[in-house]
Amino acid sequence: MLSQVVELIESKRRFAITSHIRPDGDSLGSSLGLYWLLRALDKEVEVVMRDAVPHAYQKLPGSEHVRVTPRIDRQYDAVFVIECSDITRPGVIDLERQFVVNIDHHSTTALFGDINWIDSTASAVGEMIYNLCKALGVRVTKEIAECVYTALITDTGSFHYSNTSERTFKVASELVRAGVKPAKVSQAVFSSYPWSKIELMSEVLATVRRDQSGRVAWLVQTLDMQERTGASDEDGDGFVNYPMSCGDVEACAFFKETAPGVYRVSLRSKCDVNVARIAERFRGGGHRNAAGCTFNGTWDEAEREVVGQLVYAVEHRGENGTGALQLPQQPESIPAPSARH
Ligand code: 5GP
Ligand code: MN
Repeated sequence: MLSQVVELIESKRRFAITSHIRPDGDSLGSSLGLYWLLRALDKEVEVVMRDAVPHAYQKLPGSEHVRVTPRIDRQYDAVFVIECSDITRPGVIDLERQFVVNIDHHSTTALFGDINWIDSTASAVGEMIYNLCKALGVRVTKEIAECVYTALITDTGSFHYSNTSERTFKVASELVRAGVKPAKVSQAVFSSYPWSKIELMSEVLATVRRDQSGRVAWLVQTLDMQERTGASDEDGDGFVNYPMSCGDVEACAFFKETAPGVYRVSLRSKCDVNVARIAERFRGGGHRNAAGCTFNGTWDEAEREVVGQLVYAVEHRGENGTGALQLPQQPESIPAPSARH
């Protein structure tokens, strides 16, 4: 919990920070926010990640200090693991030999740390880093503010999603007071795409399908498309959101082929359709309305199984009164979804 984290930071001095593979706005914004916080306290600190900083986050203050490495190769007093559902998510070797501090806002996270600070009411881990600043009496510098603000806007979908609370706006307002220029950060994160992404988008959007009800949509990016357009690995980020902007669509799956027979799946939903439960069935995870997993198999299998689960979840949502899917009642085999174009 927070008080343990405060005590640890006050009493130790050599820290590392890591987060999940393919870092996103919350994982990088929170990691770098914590980096600047620890620097402000004159601590020794390194940010170590398995994957490089994506283009959209390269303007974050401190992004040039992220050390990309497959292994935690030094001994620290503690390693902060940001936004990870389990100890394997950072994808770095030898993490379990360290004193681990697990900081997350997913309620489903495993308590894998020596200290676990989980706040599922926080809209982003960034909000927790802001609270940590306050608890340690550290002034929110412009660097910290820009990092935390990036975490907030990416995890709340620019304050669109249901995790956006009064507290989110309150923190955001404090960050603007500390020097954040919202338009500048949004421009860097959401409007600085390379042209390859636009070309890739036109191919991927051409694959979009809906089920008979019109409430479930899915789309796919193949290895061929990526090669043809010269797109980078991160260029497909965010495509899952486009079908969701249709009023009728309540759930969407984006399949990204990452190797022959391997699909990274991004799931999104509205309201009480719980896609985290679906992702967990395929050994992934996430939040109720945004989750992900990896599917190994043919395209036909991926479409039948994952989309089948989505169609089922949309049809049967809210049946137990809480809006959550009741998995034990869910049949293992679900009829293939039939598409309408
Ligand atoms: P995205 O679709 O943007 O990759 O992921 C959406 C959400 O699902 C994020 O909160 C992310 O952390 C979570 N997520 C995505 N893939 C996985 C996965 O393979 N395992 C787990 N545990 N969570 C995932
Ligand atoms: Mn997050």
